[in-house]
Amino acid sequence: MDLGQDRAHSARMYDYYLGGKTNYAVDREAAREVVRAFPAIETVARVNRAYMHRAMRFLAGQGVRQFIDVGTGIPTAPNVHQVVQGVAPDCRVVYVDNDPIVLVYADSLLSGTPQGQTAYVDADATRPADVLAAVKAEGVLDFDRPIALSLHALLHFVPDEQGPYELVDKFMDALPAGSFLSLSHCTGDFAPDAWKSIIDTYARQGTCVRVRSRTDVARFFDGLVLEEPGVAVGHRWRPEAASGPSLVPDVQASLYAGVGRKP
Ligand code: SAH
Repeated sequence: MDLGQDRAHSARMYDYYLGGKTNYAVDREAAREVVRAFPAIETVARVNRAYMHRAMRFLAGQGVRQFIDVGTGIPTAPNVHQVVQGVAPDCRVVYVDNDPIVLVYADSLLSGTPQGQTAYVDADATRPADVLAAVKAEGVLDFDRPIALSLHALLHFVPDEQGPYELVDKFMDALPAGSFLSLSHCTGDFAPDAWKSIIDTYARQGTCVRVRSRTDVARFFDGLVLEEPGVAVGHRWRPEAASGPSLVPDVQASLYAGVGRKP
């Protein structure tokens, strides 16, 4: 399998920011360039991961038992299924990513509770019809009952030309009323120059990054009802004691996050 070791990959660079070991020299070199431009990038990653934990616990607490996690990333415990099955062991999760390295390690995403179920689908988020068909083919989820779709730290890898808003609409159209969208998205709002350098570093590795403003991120929730506190800087979304960095300035989070419900 071609793991693309000739250039840095976003999933492996993110793994490096989180202190993981699933990255190669080429990834570490590019990631260190990002750290030089913006030393807080590791905090951004930790804020994002902690948001994921809180949002998933919140949704399981709301009674959601089915999850589709698109842009899963290299497994990093706790993963979505461990978080939600910790609330309700019968939760079912289908993971989706298109990076071969994530596929290689996907086994550790499939070790859920006996009452629940998990599956992994290798598919491209910019082709939502294909993703949905592949998810349905796994037979793990009941599309007549509410499903939470998570797009955590994914949409900033989808440039405008690839229709990020249409993509979200197509996914949400396929889910029944009472379903949820949870997303997080990097922004240049607090440190525009640093984020320009970050975008350049990724572009040199062949990865397009498109940071978006608060207004642009809020647009992803059009047609949905935002849960409190709305679209917030990641660490300010329903903060909890001991859930990642909380007392950091917004610039060190540099990402927006929120949960919306399909009415
Ligand atoms: N959701 C995780 C990981 C985010 S890293 C978290 O928030 O902690 C972003 C992930 O999105 C990477 O694993 C990358 O491979 C994946 N990704 C980027 N573009 C994608 C696409 N078009 N289709 C599927 N996955 C994609």
